[in-house]
Amino acid sequence: MKTLALLGGMSRESTAIYYRLLNEIVRERLGGLHSAKLLLWSFDFAEIAERQHAGDWEGAGVLLVEAARKLEAGGAEGLMVCTNTMHKLADAVQSAISIPLIHIADATAQAVVDAGVKRPALLATRFTMEQDFYKRRLAEKYGLQPIVPDQGGRDMVHRVIYDELCQGIVRPESKSAFLDEIGRMRRIDRVDGVIMGCTEITMLIGQGDFDIPVFDTTRIHAAAAVDFALA
Ligand code: GLU
Repeated sequence: MKTLALLGGMSRESTAIYYRLLNEIVRERLGGLHSAKLLLWSFDFAEIAERQHAGDWEGAGVLLVEAARKLEAGGAEGLMVCTNTMHKLADAVQSAISIPLIHIADATAQAVVDAGVKRPALLATRFTMEQDFYKRRLAEKYGLQPIVPDQGGRDMVHRVIYDELCQGIVRPESKSAFLDEIGRMRRIDRVDGVIMGCTEITMLIGQGDFDIPVFDTTRIHAAAAVDFALA
């Protein structure tokens, strides 16, 4: 089994979920006392979020590259950036290290294609929904046309991610707001699946809430990383 490195703490809430899932999936595959071989770098998310909201992606990139290099030097054989948003910097991180970066959007897009979904809703941070680094990858590499909520919906989703989920707060009224937004996108935009394109959204909603396919990027990414580790 290869050793995986996690660039985590973005936020710590989803990193804890990753840690559990990686270990559970390894145990499901190998049984008994098996667990994942992991190195974890956990950022102070305030330092990252501050740079994101100031548009200082270069500054955030310096932090990610520095941490990724340290994890590689520590013996990691594959790297996971445990957030969709920070995959904006995936190419910069990958070019600074010689171990492979297991890309969250590739694993997710493959799952969407395999499910036959053509017009997935993409719920994520404003950065992931409004900038093109994520949507373009889904479109160019996989022929997918992710649909994002309207301005009001994007504001609501972004606010819930940063003000609630990343701080460990799960509110029933926010769950209702997410479900209403997806209901609206089904009626108006004809979406036929839902990409939970932020690694904390799994704290709020899941497949049990829908009768169309839902793609939990945290779980999909963790499973892809275990595939890599055990290959
Ligand atoms: N974990 C989130 C994501 O998957 C949001 C936090 C961040 O901006 O990194 O995008």
